[in-house]
Amino acid sequence: MLLGAPGSGKGTQGERLARRLDVPHISSGDLLRAEVRDGTALGTTARGYLDSGRLVPDDLVFDLVLPAVLAAAEAGGYLLDGFPRSVAQAVRADQLLTRSGAELQRVVFLSADDDLLAGRLLERAAAAGRSDDTAEVIADRLRVFERETRPLVEHYRARGMLREVAADQPVEEVTEAVLRAL
Ligand code: ADP
Repeated sequence: MLLGAPGSGKGTQGERLARRLDVPHISSGDLLRAEVRDGTALGTTARGYLDSGRLVPDDLVFDLVLPAVLAAAEAGGYLLDGFPRSVAQAVRADQLLTRSGAELQRVVFLSADDDLLAGRLLERAAAAGRSDDTAEVIADRLRVFERETRPLVEHYRARGMLREVAADQPVEEVTEAVLRAL
């Protein structure tokens, strides 16, 4: 599982690593944005949370992400990005995944300081225009990360599952560092 603040490079590294490891890249953010794009009931509910940078309610995220994880685990493995995103999600995911023999093996924390993160997100906003990439929402997403997601670093460290990789290196070097850390 890749753990990191918005802008830390989870999406970019997730795709590269999944290719190298030959497993599916399962991104909760991508799955949620696809639901919004397709106009499903789940997407309609999720949209307001995505656009404001808040976490989507756990039940919705589990309904969407868990089946994908279980199917991938059965087929040989998975690379998770963006999920779990809080200690509550981690505890619940751990119970459900362990029951199916699909539990997380390693967590890689892509560490970066706030200035780098905010800079990258604003650049992406200018280039691509994701609906949650405005300055105000970016600040909120960074706050949500600190409050909800950062505690997972200690959670997984205490379980001996955490590896840390500096995210402020060129893309290729981050990928190699993650593969070494795994
Ligand atoms: P980033 O890595 O830039 O934060 P993501 O694509 O991972 O982008 O997430 C975008 C948004 O999707 C989040 O701000 C949140 O609203 C929602 N989201 C993604 N994963 C989860 C999750 N596990 N639980 C709740 N909300 C989530």
